[in-house]
Amino acid sequence: MKSMQEQDRLQGYEQLKKKTEGYYQSSVGLGDYKPFAAARGSFAERNKRGNMVRLRNTAGRIDRRKLRFIVEEAEKHQVDMVHFATCQTVQFHHLQPDQVISLLEDIVDNGYETYGTGGDYPRNIMCSPLSGVDPDEVMNVLPYAEAAAQYLVETADDPDMPRKLKTAFSGDRENMTHATYRDLGFAATDEGTFDIYAAGGLGPNPAFGVQVGQDVKPVECLYYVQAMMNTFRKYGNTGNKRRARTRYMVEALGGDEAFRQAFLQELAAVRNALQLEIGPEIVSPVKKEGDGTSPQTHWRIQPQKQQGLYSVLYHPVGGCPRLSVLRSLSTALDSMDGVELRTSPDQSVYIINLTGREADLIARITEADTARSLFETSTACVGAGTCVVGVRDSQKLLKELIRAVREAGISQDALPKLHISGCPSSCSAQQTAEIGLRGTVKVVAKGDIRPAYFLSLHGKNGRNDSRMGREAGVILEEDMIPFILSLGREVSDTGLAYHDWAENHPGRLDEIAAQYTK
Ligand code: SF4
Repeated sequence: MKSMQEQDRLQGYEQLKKKTEGYYQSSVGLGDYKPFAAARGSFAERNKRGNMVRLRNTAGRIDRRKLRFIVEEAEKHQVDMVHFATCQTVQFHHLQPDQVISLLEDIVDNGYETYGTGGDYPRNIMCSPLSGVDPDEVMNVLPYAEAAAQYLVETADDPDMPRKLKTAFSGDRENMTHATYRDLGFAATDEGTFDIYAAGGLGPNPAFGVQVGQDVKPVECLYYVQAMMNTFRKYGNTGNKRRARTRYMVEALGGDEAFRQAFLQELAAVRNALQLEIGPEIVSPVKKEGDGTSPQTHWRIQPQKQQGLYSVLYHPVGGCPRLSVLRSLSTALDSMDGVELRTSPDQSVYIINLTGREADLIARITEADTARSLFETSTACVGAGTCVVGVRDSQKLLKELIRAVREAGISQDALPKLHISGCPSSCSAQQTAEIGLRGTVKVVAKGDIRPAYFLSLHGKNGRNDSRMGREAGVILEEDMIPFILSLGREVSDTGLAYHDWAENHPGRLDEIAAQYTK
């Protein structure tokens, strides 16, 4: 991807410019434009509202220089929507054609990348956001995620794959990156090794990954990355885009065991042909030390494994931060050593490596733009207001629900996180959420078609106990606020937090939901 990016830059993005102009003037169709632009990290938005540019953000890391760059570019191009996406990338939305080219030029000139963040490429490598600083982590997987990203960026210029390939590393105790159900996932074990899963994924026909490696030494992870690419090239469905994701290979090959054997054959061939072992020296510890200050008690501030250092959670609603807050954050971070941001797949951001005093300041800066409760940390994809394939506007729904819940005075811990996806692509992972929603329409009567959501209940994401939720019917969009308020009021009245209430009242969520589903 590096050389494609360099070549385009040398040519002044002539081809992309022409295609983009053609697309906006309707001489180039979306079918032609989309794959060409997406491979370069730019995506047409709904109704030609503008384009989105996705910045590669390996393992969710944003250092101070990169944050400054993001803020300056957003200001320069008057971007009205910066988005922390569920793939841990950063997206600039609603750009006009000339802004797309100008932004891409700035990105490349500053050493950053957008290439391969869309299209049939290995996508942004995901990683547990608090890797290396979480006192409770299973293993620091960040060095391996970064090594995999570097390997892919340097080798996958023409990956020749049927579709995209999403890879995740998980070293936390909650499986935050969903490593057990990605195209390729590395899940840390208590023994300091990886269990490796392949050909999983959400979207239509969701599936958990097939285990293809057990207790694998972390330094061997690149063999699995290369073997997965080879397996996908060999057995992926090249004739039908809709069935080209890795999870369809399992069925095509005859089931889990057949897929596992096919993968292991490719793995053996890679091990014979290549030397891909990573040196253990890639692990670089945090050098910063605390200064003896302690922060005030705040639920968003947590101690790190490094004595005297803290992280602050910042969750802008729907993953859409206010630019003014990002600017303040960037200015404050400029005078703090060793600090960085880590984006999370649930659209949170963690600011890490802070002293106690610094943590207090960062908590104050982000206070006015962060979720106030578990419910407000709900995950919502960009949705149909922006996304060209969206069916429902998940961002709008989330904002309306939060407003209604605040106005109703429902207690802060009475509702769980929702996961809202605007279409079957399932970018918000609604299948493994306690309450998941997927945009659709419902024919209520002849000629009466209404906006609606498929409801999924009791899904779970966990290290060893993930499960898909139960499809519980369809809720009209107009009934979403009554449903959530009804649930919130009932839980509030018991004085319990949602998860305690759910444990003490099995089946009650289903009964409440049934009053609203069609
Ligand atoms: S879930 Fe659908 S609507 Fe939402 S961002 Fe993904 S593709 Fe777009």
